[in-house]
Amino acid sequence: MKYEAVIGLEVHTQVRTQTKIFCGCRNEYGAGPNTNVCPICLGYPGVLPVMNREAVRQTIVAGLACGCEIASYCKWDRKNYYYPDMPKNYQISQFDLPICLGGEVPITGKGFSGEPMRERNIALTRIHLEEDVAKSTHLGRSSGVDFNRAGIPLMEIVSEPDMRTPDEAYAYLNALKQILEYADISDCDMEKGQMRCDVNVSVRPVGQTKLGTKIEIKNLNSFRTAHRALEYEIERQIDVLEEGGSMRQETRRWDDEEEATSVMRTKENAQDYRYFPDPDLMPVEVSAEWLEEVRSSLVETPHARRARFVEQYGITDYDADVLTHEKATGDYFEQAAQGRKKPKAVANWIQTELLGALSKRGIHISDSPVSPQALGELMDLIEAGTVSGKIAKDVFAEMLDTGTSAAAIVKEKGLEQVSDTGAIEGMVDDAIAGNEKAVQEYKDGNGKAIQFLVGHVMKASRGKANPKMVVELLKSRLD
Ligand SMILES: [Zn+2]
Repeated sequence: MKYEAVIGLEVHTQVRTQTKIFCGCRNEYGAGPNTNVCPICLGYPGVLPVMNREAVRQTIVAGLACGCEIASYCKWDRKNYYYPDMPKNYQISQFDLPICLGGEVPITGKGFSGEPMRERNIALTRIHLEEDVAKSTHLGRSSGVDFNRAGIPLMEIVSEPDMRTPDEAYAYLNALKQILEYADISDCDMEKGQMRCDVNVSVRPVGQTKLGTKIEIKNLNSFRTAHRALEYEIERQIDVLEEGGSMRQETRRWDDEEEATSVMRTKENAQDYRYFPDPDLMPVEVSAEWLEEVRSSLVETPHARRARFVEQYGITDYDADVLTHEKATGDYFEQAAQGRKKPKAVANWIQTELLGALSKRGIHISDSPVSPQALGELMDLIEAGTVSGKIAKDVFAEMLDTGTSAAAIVKEKGLEQVSDTGAIEGMVDDAIAGNEKAVQEYKDGNGKAIQFLVGHVMKASRGKANPKMVVELLKSRLD
């Protein structure tokens, strides 16, 4: 029998704000343990939380970027459970009335395996806002709790069970991260816990419409791990079904060492959170004016930018995909291409020369020693025929090392392309006189033999002769 997987994701992302969601403590990463704390985020009895409007605004931004419907009225609920990382024994979250409903995330490009993705939209169920809990660290036989994380605004983005392969889940995570980065909501650094994800997965025979029993997997610390865990779990579930077994609803944990999932808890001991509205917090009303104001501040989404790049600059879908992967790369490209005749050439140069050179040096494009304007000027020199493409690469290497402008390097080192007919003619004559064999081959009809002569002239000119003129002059002599 053939099976298909049904995958849904729950992604938690910390929202970048100055202060925490219900108190005035700083929202920052890396401070000493329990330094950004106060009675509210430590969960003292009798304190009153006050909502941070900016966290709500950022969640509306995320919702609009994903095409969600934004609720005009939503409220805060208490999710009750007991755990050492949450001393007030409930987490302030949103239950039945989240800020954002519906929406979708377009996936494109390549999956983890490098296979091109079928372009499509993954539907969202909702996005709601809640407070993050403290972070527990276990060291040998002792454990520590750091409350700096407690109360950081946390968005939960829930997808529909819309994905069918681990590759699609991987592409979805990347697309979501890209949207949140573009909107400046979060850096989505999983190592810093800024983004966390749980997956739900079930399998069913192809053709069956009823969903199989879903298994939740937790403890996924990277997109790669999510992909790996899904691959493992799908295979495991198919094996169970093939052997005549059945699945029971449970939560499993991914073990990086074992490269396997194991049972964490089953449905029988699943928690009942007994949600109820938080009496300390007012419901949130999103007025039409506020929504309009947020909408007018939105930046272009990555998929809109991708489409615009293809349309406006005449570059391929693939190029647009690479150039919009990070917002900074797209910004760089647009500044470098500004006013240039051949934006396609700029796009190529960034992809073939700049990105590789920067990654070799471990430099992010936003810190590139060659500014977009400086790269644009180099492209102008190539376009005007002042330097050959080959020489331009040497000039570019020098620009990277020294930060000097292309024009200054070309002038200082005398690298101008030689387009003076007289000067090239002399070298062409020498090449013809010194290479009788190649000349004869060319005259006998081997068109390729001319390349040997071109190479000879280029070498004699130390790469500076205008190759187009060399070919023309050789042909005018030999034909
Ligand atoms: Zn606090």
